[in-house]
Amino acid sequence: MAILIDGKDVAAKVRAELREEVETMAKERKKRPALAVILVGEDPASQIYVRNKQRACEDVGILSEIYTLGENVSQESLEYIINSLAERRDIDGILLQMPLPKGLDPVKALKCIPPEKDVDAFHPDNVGHIMRGDYRFLPCTPAGVMELLRRYDIDISGKECVVIGRSDIVGKPMAMMLLHSGGTVTICHSKTRNLAEHTRRADILVSAVGKAGFVTADMVKDGAVVIDVGINRNADGKICGDVDFAAVEPKASYITPVPGGVGPMTVAMLMKNTVKAAEISQKTY
Ligand code: NAD
Repeated sequence: MAILIDGKDVAAKVRAELREEVETMAKERKKRPALAVILVGEDPASQIYVRNKQRACEDVGILSEIYTLGENVSQESLEYIINSLAERRDIDGILLQMPLPKGLDPVKALKCIPPEKDVDAFHPDNVGHIMRGDYRFLPCTPAGVMELLRRYDIDISGKECVVIGRSDIVGKPMAMMLLHSGGTVTICHSKTRNLAEHTRRADILVSAVGKAGFVTADMVKDGAVVIDVGINRNADGKICGDVDFAAVEPKASYITPVPGGVGPMTVAMLMKNTVKAAEISQKTY
């Protein structure tokens, strides 16, 4: 039987710690961190994510401003709004909710966010820092995975780490973070041949694919730590991860459930980045 990694519990602890930090900042410096979130269009999933982020801010004591733009907004208008938020001294973090509607250039828009306010860590400047390991911010989902490993005392140094998925927001930064912690890292993706041969070597297996039931028991080594980043719906419409949990759990030493594993950590790490952005802005101004 594997130990269940309780992301809800860890996320609540991270938020409680941040709440204390924020209250100290409010008392001592008469300032609360402030996050601006820009939502373009009416994608229902994005609307839910933005609402969750707003609620998390309220919970931690962070100020938030939500900008909702129509899906036909021009690139120029979007960039104008980001640039005006970039200039505001009272705004510490800026988050542009992805994906953007077709016709808008996400890379151009993200480049308008000053790196020191880029709490998602998607700006090329911050991506470069992650490569070098001297980062200000880490992307929230892989940072959440690292926090879970740390809080469960799971050592990474010298371990075989296999990441399935090579996206810019999860797979690639996840691999870099495991590498910086001393892991021997393999990145698998849609073109990887003999996937199970790679995954069976993993002491720590991270799946970020987006397919229900993708990681089966025969792909997992006995005693492996299994981290499921995927968020999918199964045939009954219920939220599930990439991992066939019932079959894999008996083989694993540690495993994250979905829901209640990596998911709650993502928003908690966004809060952490926003508090850090406020600390950076205190030093700058
Ligand atoms: P993505 O679609 O950008 O990337 C998926 C990756 O899976 C790709 O790199 C692709 O190469 C790989 N892949 C696809 N088919 C494969 C196959 N047959 N074999 C091996 N690799 C294969 O997705 P993403 O944005 O990285 O997200 C991945 C999953 O994580 C999704 O389910 C998403 O909803 C979830 N997610 C969860 C959180 C969270 O907070 N828990 C945050 C971000 C993403």
